[in-house]
Amino acid sequence: MNLDDPANHFASLDAADSLGHFRDCFLIPKAADGSDTIYFTGNSLGLQPKTARSFIEVELDDWARLGVEGHLHAAHPWLPYHEFLTEKMARIVGAEPLETVVMNSLTVNLHLLLVSFYRPAGRRRKIIVEKGSFPSDRYAILSHLKLHGVSDDALIELAPRDGEATLRTDDILGVIEREADELALVMLGGVNYYTGQAFAMAAITEAGHRAGAVVGFDLAHAAGNLELKLHDWNVDFAAWCSYKYLNAGPGGIAGAFVHARHSKAFDLPRFAGWWGHDKETRFQMGPDFVPLAGAEGWQVSNPPIFQMAALRASLDIFDEAGMSALREKSMKLTGFLETLLSKIADERIELITPKDPEQRGCQLSIRVRDADKRLFDAITARGVIADWREPDVIRVAPVPLYNSFEDVHRFAEILQECLS
Ligand SMILES: *Cc1c(COP(=O)(O)O)cnc(C)c1O
Repeated sequence: MNLDDPANHFASLDAADSLGHFRDCFLIPKAADGSDTIYFTGNSLGLQPKTARSFIEVELDDWARLGVEGHLHAAHPWLPYHEFLTEKMARIVGAEPLETVVMNSLTVNLHLLLVSFYRPAGRRRKIIVEKGSFPSDRYAILSHLKLHGVSDDALIELAPRDGEATLRTDDILGVIEREADELALVMLGGVNYYTGQAFAMAAITEAGHRAGAVVGFDLAHAAGNLELKLHDWNVDFAAWCSYKYLNAGPGGIAGAFVHARHSKAFDLPRFAGWWGHDKETRFQMGPDFVPLAGAEGWQVSNPPIFQMAALRASLDIFDEAGMSALREKSMKLTGFLETLLSKIADERIELITPKDPEQRGCQLSIRVRDADKRLFDAITARGVIADWREPDVIRVAPVPLYNSFEDVHRFAEILQECLS
């Protein structure tokens, strides 16, 4: 790598970065020598906002001070607490507040939404998914096929062409069109966790609807990463976790989206619970379930306040930075990483993430020849926190809120040194 190349001037890139100060809002894990690690696993567990602790402490204090009265009299009353998160979460995914709710965890939300939105009928029973999607999604979907007595053949798994690592949009759209007569549901990730490929969600949704199917997305790797427009794209439903790019902490409370046109689809089956019941009459404790309009109507239980407090700390930061500015920086940051990696020019490593910035988010997935994990172990020993995915991929995700161009530069140097 030629460090005199102007493209390597990380310092000037950091100086010109209007979001650089947000790094100070986070606690960066330290290496053994006390320096900051190069934390590139925001796609797995985002870092802790410095404010998270005090946001949770406020709730602990209110619980100590008020006991049950905290439901109404806490500084941020617990009864409507999830509502404090709705608008900010809606902005992150490009939704109306009515369409968004924070609740449960991701796979649980997928189940709740599949109950309502996978409705096999007659010949229309098939589901299109990605081959090699995150296992939890596959387990969940197969369990719904079983629930409906539909055979596993109804699962259509999109695979890249021979010799290619990622899917072509035309191929995805082609399968949707081909299966139109028998298609019940298209359910893909927004960004594939393994390859880092971002899918053409607007085009896929349009094609799915043209085929007469319902379209849902798992946005685990897309929320807080890409600029999403779920409402405008007409997506039927979506779910995502908040501990990855959204920095809400381990086991963080997840998000769900149901398009406004389904907000009063009370005839759809759903798994009911008292928190999805009409707020005006919830505490009359009547025997009949009256669902709330919109995504809130899919809530089941009263939600965990401490998790929501941590998420609130994080969403405040997202709201201040704004998704479009974050995405703009992210494209530069990941583009810078790609440029530096291309200069290493060692045939033992190869990028499998698409080169087109529109088809990826923060993450680059580096395939290591002969699955030699020693390379990963060596960069880890040098203070890089990345992750190794079997059989042969190192995933790195510089995120725009707390990673710098210097992080990217240092990472590229370390990788080069460990290769030689
Ligand atoms: C991270 C991730 C999950 C994890 O599911 P949880 O229910 O949050 O444990 C599921 N699906 C995808 C696509 C993921 O990336």
